[in-house]
Parts: sequence; C-alpha cells; structure tokens
Amino acid sequence: MNPCRWCDGTGTWHPEKPHRSEAGEITWIQVAETCRMCVGIGEEQPRQETASSQPARSNAPPVPYRDALRAERERLTTRLQEIDAALSDL
Ligand SMILES: [Zn+2]
Repeated sequence: MNPCRWCDGTGTWHPEKPHRSEAGEITWIQVAETCRMCVGIGEEQPRQETASSQPARSNAPPVPYRDALRAERERLTTRLQEIDAALSDL
C-alpha cells in the first residue's frame, strides 16, 4: 500500500532541474511541480492549505505505479486514434 511514488500522495513533487548560473555553470535546483503522474491518471486535485502537513488523498486508495502507467498509455492511445482520425479527414 504505497501512495503515489512520485509525490507521496500530496499532488506535488520536487524534481531537480538544471539551472545555468551567471558564471555559466550548470547546477541543479529543486522545484515544486504538480505531480505529473497524478495528473496523468486524471487525479489532479486542487491545492489545499494543509497539503504540506496532511496529504489530501489520505483516504483515497493509492494507485499502483503500474496502473498509473497503464492509464496513461490508454489515454495516449485514445489521443493517437483521435489524431489519426482527424488526419484522415484532411
Ligand atoms: Zn503523485
């Protein structure tokens, strides 16, 4: 029973992004983003004031990573079919 492995169920994750300093050096900075996996499986949630101390999805069943990937694949497959249909009409 694991919450989202990316954001621990908070809806926000903290990836590191490359950042070029004024001196031209590449450093890594930590940023806060809406969890892409949660968004990808259609569980995007509004930010809550207590999100940092109390995960908002504590009552929701955690979605296994494999299921999240399957849902994302299904979504993209459907989108591809829509695009193919649109292209064939041109
Ligand atoms: Zn997440």
